[in-house]
Amino acid sequence: MNHVYLDNAATTPMRPEVIQTMVEVMQTEFGNASSTHSFGRSAKNILETSRKTIARLLGCEAREIIFTANATEATNWILKSVVRDLGIKRIITSPAEHHATLYTVKQLEQEFGVQVAYLPIMPTGNIDYVALEQLLQDEMPTLVTLMHVNNETGCILDIERTGLLCRSHKALFHCDTVQSIGKTAFNLHHLPIDFAVASAHKFHGPKGVGFAYISKQVVLKPLIVGGEQEKGLRAGTEAVHQIAGMTKALEMDYTSLEHDSNYIASLKAYCLEQLQTHFPEVKMNGENTFYNILNVVLPFSEDKTAMILFNLDMKGIAVSRGSACQSGSIKPSHVLASFLKEEDLKKPSLRISFSCFNTKEDIDALISGLKGV
Ligand code: PLP
Repeated sequence: MNHVYLDNAATTPMRPEVIQTMVEVMQTEFGNASSTHSFGRSAKNILETSRKTIARLLGCEAREIIFTANATEATNWILKSVVRDLGIKRIITSPAEHHATLYTVKQLEQEFGVQVAYLPIMPTGNIDYVALEQLLQDEMPTLVTLMHVNNETGCILDIERTGLLCRSHKALFHCDTVQSIGKTAFNLHHLPIDFAVASAHKFHGPKGVGFAYISKQVVLKPLIVGGEQEKGLRAGTEAVHQIAGMTKALEMDYTSLEHDSNYIASLKAYCLEQLQTHFPEVKMNGENTFYNILNVVLPFSEDKTAMILFNLDMKGIAVSRGSACQSGSIKPSHVLASFLKEEDLKKPSLRISFSCFNTKEDIDALISGLKGV
């Protein structure tokens, strides 16, 4: 059976060069980066070179990049620390955020009595900027947390507009950039952002490693204690091979960004065109979406909703109904529920997400798989 992977918003295949880099580091650089002997110093050198490379690629300073196990950890740390250590009393977010954000915010509401405001999601799938501006008029110590590219719909936040609103009302801005880092150019120092987060497995790097960008204007305290690693901000022996792999992946993504993004955008356009040809009533969820994510409502009956992924999976085709953590469930996705009409919510929605490793043949296989459902 041919395998077709069209679920790149859940995770991406690793680039062979990334695996090669990791193997080399594992074979030759097993030292503990905190040791002072030559083995340790050599590992430390890889760590700090990686930090500098990531900072150069994203337009910030090396000291503003803190390595973590993934973006969920980075988001937990940032949101918890701003409430606990910086006196934030209110969090403004949206119901369409990833659970890494939503569950952390809920916990902070329950345990610290933080006030939480959820921005409405417009029928386009985007946040209501006017509502954000209105809420910010009340100048209590506030953090705004909104994602750049929505992992289910691909809807894009205007980071500049959001960040400037935050700046003009002295609110901190945490942006979940998991779906966009490595896929679009960033100059973090030119953007009005205080915090950003990334997970390497979303951009052809390994799982189990990510980072937080913490603007040098803000001083956080650690969530994980027990050592002086990462300047005491994130204790625990650093996974040097993972970090080296993540850095290699990001370097390669940015080297081929223009070519890859154009290619992926052309695959998305072809997929939409094919869907419209074979299922004329298909509708897109969200407007002006990111070039690698296509979320559609299919004109199938409600009873097919639960079976559609299973049917495609039997044919070796991997797509998703929502984020990976929910895809086994038949509950409608919380993201789509935040802006779709009831009747569309009952119909099967599919998230098809592409990478530079996909081909038109993958899309043809998906279309023929859908025709057989
Ligand atoms: N934020 C977004 C937008 C995501 O898509 C994901 C992963 O699906 C996460 C956060 C969490 O990433 P991880 O599970 O790698 O920590």
